Amino acid sequence: SLRAGIVGLPNVGKSTLFNAVVENGKAQAANFPFCTIEPNVGIVAVPDPRLHVLSELSKSQRAVPASIEFVDIAGLVKGASQGEGLGNKFLSHIREVDSILQVVRCFEDNDIVHVNGKVDPKSDIDVINLELVFSDLDQIEKRLEKLKKGKVKDSKSKLKEEAEKSGLEKIRQALMDGKPARSVGLTDYEKDAVKHLCLLTMKPIIYVANVAESDLAEPGNNPHVNEVMNLASELQSGIVTISAQVESELTELPSEERTEYLKSLGVSESGLGNLIRETYSLLGLRTYFTSGEKESKAWTILAGMTAPQAAGVIHSDFEKGFIRAETVSYDDFVTSGSLAAAREKGLVSCSIVLNL
Ligand code: GDP
Repeated sequence: SLRAGIVGLPNVGKSTLFNAVVENGKAQAANFPFCTIEPNVGIVAVPDPRLHVLSELSKSQRAVPASIEFVDIAGLVKGASQGEGLGNKFLSHIREVDSILQVVRCFEDNDIVHVNGKVDPKSDIDVINLELVFSDLDQIEKRLEKLKKGKVKDSKSKLKEEAEKSGLEKIRQALMDGKPARSVGLTDYEKDAVKHLCLLTMKPIIYVANVAESDLAEPGNNPHVNEVMNLASELQSGIVTISAQVESELTELPSEERTEYLKSLGVSESGLGNLIRETYSLLGLRTYFTSGEKESKAWTILAGMTAPQAAGVIHSDFEKGFIRAETVSYDDFVTSGSLAAAREKGLVSCSIVLNL
């Protein structure tokens, strides 16, 4: 499943958020085959009411939602890219995730020490951004050196090497200006050629503004949140407002009382749903469903995937041996009541691969 890494400076609320995410996952575990696989990895179902509607229509024995893996990557501090302390290990954990969630402290609390002495989202974001930029720069310098000396052993065509070089030069320039690799306009060819480096600043990042519960209803009233919003758009990133403390308190309440509690704070749902939706949208993810008596299941694909590629998410054999797929939109299926009825109305379309 999709991997999202939670990073941030110390004392911003990372573990509070992560633990709430894990507890939430455990609460769903009664219905779904999910669990915590490692102490710092938790799996959460992607909430989607459509799945339950489909499951009832098909009288499925079970409903299996899509899932997201959250990884708690604590310990990213100033100096990580120079290999100080365990810095490099943290950076290598970040390399393995599909998206980065940076928790940024936007709540005031004199009892909780801030590493820089005061709540300052811009400085928090800059510190982490710089570490990622340094790490990428270092990697790019080394790679360019190798390419120039013709020491690259991987069997690559000259053309691909040229594309990699020009792509890396462009990215290096942007990094020197403090801009992330994802903001650089690369050609498709260059993009493909630099992909193998898994650059950290190429990964989509979402700033999770951690606010006090009193700010949840109107986060725009908190100037720190506005600052994060501006930075997010500057750095081509997403933003979600959350109260880690509230998320944590929610997991301790019986489910009947949760809605009531959220209402008292002036919001209609927990922040976790928001966080998952933002991750989906930033990564350009889409869902399709399979539905039958055995199970109804949500599958995650990238926007723009072809039918065989989408089928390959279920099993790679489906992609290799793809013959055809019949698909129907969720709305048409639900209004028709069954695939047969939708087919009769001409609402089912067919994808075929021609092997010419
Ligand atoms: P981490 O070091 O980033 O993992 O931070 P923690 O999750 O351990 O949180 C540090 C401290 O801040 C803990 O005492 C939390 O209870 C507290 N904390 C976390 N989120 C909030 C919040 O939204 N509001 C307030 N007032 N305190 C919070």
